[in-house]
Amino acid sequence: MRHKRAKTYKRAIAIYTTAFGFRTPFQVLVSNDVLLALNRESDIVKQLSACCQGEVKPMITQCCVEALYKLGKEVQAVTDIAKTFERRRCNHRTPLESDACLTDVIGSTNKHRYVLAAQSKSLRTALSAIPGLPIIHFNPRGVLVLSPPSHATLKTKDAQEESRRLEGADLLQGVQDGENVIGAGSTATTSSSTAAAAPTKRSRAKGPNPLSVKKKKAAPVEHKREEKREEVQLAAAKKSRRKRGKGLVKQVREEMAAEDLARAKRAKESAEGRASEQAAETPLEE
Ligand SMILES: [Zn+2]
Repeated sequence: MRHKRAKTYKRAIAIYTTAFGFRTPFQVLVSNDVLLALNRESDIVKQLSACCQGEVKPMITQCCVEALYKLGKEVQAVTDIAKTFERRRCNHRTPLESDACLTDVIGSTNKHRYVLAAQSKSLRTALSAIPGLPIIHFNPRGVLVLSPPSHATLKTKDAQEESRRLEGADLLQGVQDGENVIGAGSTATTSSSTAAAAPTKRSRAKGPNPLSVKKKKAAPVEHKREEKREEVQLAAAKKSRRKRGKGLVKQVREEMAAEDLARAKRAKESAEGRASEQAAETPLEE
């Protein structure tokens, strides 16, 4: 069960890191109501880390701490935990209600990439409309859980993937037979980085890939023509022997064997000093 949850969290966090640029340590804005729901014995930081599947930096806003102070000695233990968190300056001169303060700090786009840990159902519902805001809370059984990515989050992620796909399609235009797929590999790697990154211009080598082009051969000397013809015949025989679905290794091996044969033949012929005038009409192999 626990293992299954970790797997689900990993998948969810991957969405936030790939599509929204989240990085460890994850900055978790902890609301005072989460701290009040905390079982005294448990380690809140450890639980937050489990939810985020990585290192976390718990933070608390001035207003949320203020709300704890107001409750006085009764919640001293919780206040002490809150004091160990990094204080997020919200600059609300007159302290706001925690929900209002957190809504303001997170803003409409969560540009600072916060993770929200809050119990308030109304706050969680309202902020689930913000794409790329992971939300954590205690479930009724007292387990700290990460909510599944919201519809807004998934929608934004899908839109980003689609635009990346189109960008990739643009790039692949003009690629012939997969010969010059130089830019394609680099797109694949950059696409996994932040989606906000603007499409960068890539310089691509002009002309065909030099590795896929055969070297220019010197003009054939007369006696070589005969050999050429033999080679062509050999290649044709090779092709006819080649069967569908044959392994690449086997093919290559056969080709090597055929080449060896041709070489041996050539050596033999040149030894014999045989030359021929015919074969002018023989098509030369490229
Ligand atoms: Zn505030």
